[in-house]
Amino acid sequence: AICEGVGDDPHRMLDILRAVQDELRWISPAAMGLIASRTGLSRIAVEGVASFYAFLSQAPKGRVTIRLCDDIVDRFAGMPEVAAAFEAALGIKVGETSADGAVSLEYTPCIGLCDQAPAAMINDVVLTGLTPGRAGDIAAALKAGQSPEELIAQDFLDLTPHERATRQVENNIRHAGASLLSPVPDGAGLAKALDMDPVRIIAEIEASGLRGCGGAGFGTGRKWRFAAETEAERRIIICNADEGEPGTFKDRVLLTERPHLLAEGMTIAARAVGASEGILYLRGEYVYLRDLIEEVLQDRRDRGLLGQGIGGQDFDFDIRLQLGAGAYICGEEGALISSCEGLPGEPKTRPPFPVTQGYLGLPTVVNNVETFCHAARILDQGAQWFSDMGHAGSHGTKLFSVSGDCLRPGVYELSYGLSVRELLAMAGGEDAAAVAVGGASGTMIARDQFDRCLSFDDLATGGSVVVFNGSRNILEIVEYYMSFFVHESCGFCTPCRVGNVFLHKAIGKFRKGLANPEDIEYLKDLSGTIIETSRCGLGTTSPKPILTTLENFPLVYAATVKPSKDRIRASFDIQSAIDDARHMAKRGSEIFDEDYSE
Ligand code: SF4
Repeated sequence: AICEGVGDDPHRMLDILRAVQDELRWISPAAMGLIASRTGLSRIAVEGVASFYAFLSQAPKGRVTIRLCDDIVDRFAGMPEVAAAFEAALGIKVGETSADGAVSLEYTPCIGLCDQAPAAMINDVVLTGLTPGRAGDIAAALKAGQSPEELIAQDFLDLTPHERATRQVENNIRHAGASLLSPVPDGAGLAKALDMDPVRIIAEIEASGLRGCGGAGFGTGRKWRFAAETEAERRIIICNADEGEPGTFKDRVLLTERPHLLAEGMTIAARAVGASEGILYLRGEYVYLRDLIEEVLQDRRDRGLLGQGIGGQDFDFDIRLQLGAGAYICGEEGALISSCEGLPGEPKTRPPFPVTQGYLGLPTVVNNVETFCHAARILDQGAQWFSDMGHAGSHGTKLFSVSGDCLRPGVYELSYGLSVRELLAMAGGEDAAAVAVGGASGTMIARDQFDRCLSFDDLATGGSVVVFNGSRNILEIVEYYMSFFVHESCGFCTPCRVGNVFLHKAIGKFRKGLANPEDIEYLKDLSGTIIETSRCGLGTTSPKPILTTLENFPLVYAATVKPSKDRIRASFDIQSAIDDARHMAKRGSEIFDEDYSE
């Protein structure tokens, strides 16, 4: 019965395991054995997937699982006090399940609600703006038998999916730009695309200058062209709705308010490259949006905008929703594809690139939510309209998720090219002493750099802009970001798996005042090694919190180090010992420098 709907397809392993988790509250050994026999996989393969994702458990969980967001913004907004209130009211510690099996309490990394922190997931609903008092009330209500949904509204099930979503989460749209957050006509872009040759569609996207909005900035039209030009029977369109970068939540707003536009953009991409299948990969933390998106997809099928013969043409395309299960790494393109294939979310070795060999070895276009939405608007309004907005090589508008120490946290749609200072003025963050542009894997800048430009050419960001005032401890922020990477590394390659642990420990030394000047060189050297030798973007960006703060906040580090004279010094100098030996043997350096390679 659990496999109903997805059959025994091993590529739907994540759906199967999620269904088992929902039903049994854990992935029991017996369930794993049964799934293995039904899907034709080995038991160890099933266990490999089950053990990879944070939201899948191999130990029994409570009927209700409270996941407290442990992001640095939530910490600064009072999550430690909220957690303590939950612990006191429930009589368990974070990481435990109550003896009666009613409630589990745990921490989870950023759940995409930094603009209304502290926040938590309670089963499939989310609660925001928590206080210790509210935590106590929630715990009491759950103990009294209320469902998590009833915590949102007593008539929760009578609400529409959109009402359910917006009762839980504020959109916090602070500035609507011309492309996405101002009112948009329904279906105008697709209607025009259906009258165009696929080559023209791609040319239009290329001419617009649209670049991937997830942070990497690869040309969207170029990506579509590569996929279209690859010989294949089937092609795939995947939407990356797994925005897990700490401090990023702008796709959450698009998924809530522009799901039709997103589906339209994916359909236009399918028309352009000749794809018949689409996957919308929704991060597990956004499970509260599942019904809303499913409703929109069904509405589009009913209107002939998805499914067979779209627009009365010989064009078939449909989208399935794939729910993630709590893994930051699945925001990486290859890991996302692995996860869609029912595998652990591990990145893939490149080349080949997904546009030629992606999902199940088929040419695959992966773009994020914002990129597909822009594509639909470009087809409606034209390439020139889009490319006229922005700055140099960064065309169009960008959605910024602003959170932290500012008066007006939320989503701002603005043309590329504004300065950090201008964005801070809009968000009421003029007191900022530091800004993390691009989240944990981005760039931490200090006050003297606030005139830098938000664009691909200067400060690129997938959307995260986290503001910190002067009372915040920079090293605490860096230590948190490094612990995040330690937690989220998929573990495939040693430099990332082990190196980030060492970096995290080293930052701990600075925080405790136990570091010496040599430790700064150690941080730089180890960071360089991790960047050079890691396989995917997580490893190659994970040292950035350290490197960018070493560069932009040198005094923070200098203030914590102790001079080396206070520490144990090496008593053996190998270079001077060699010089002594040369001298005693009356030999010059030539014997040591001789080249034996011939
Ligand atoms: Fe996994 Fe890190 Fe290696 Fe990426 S760099 S493949 S996250 S271990």
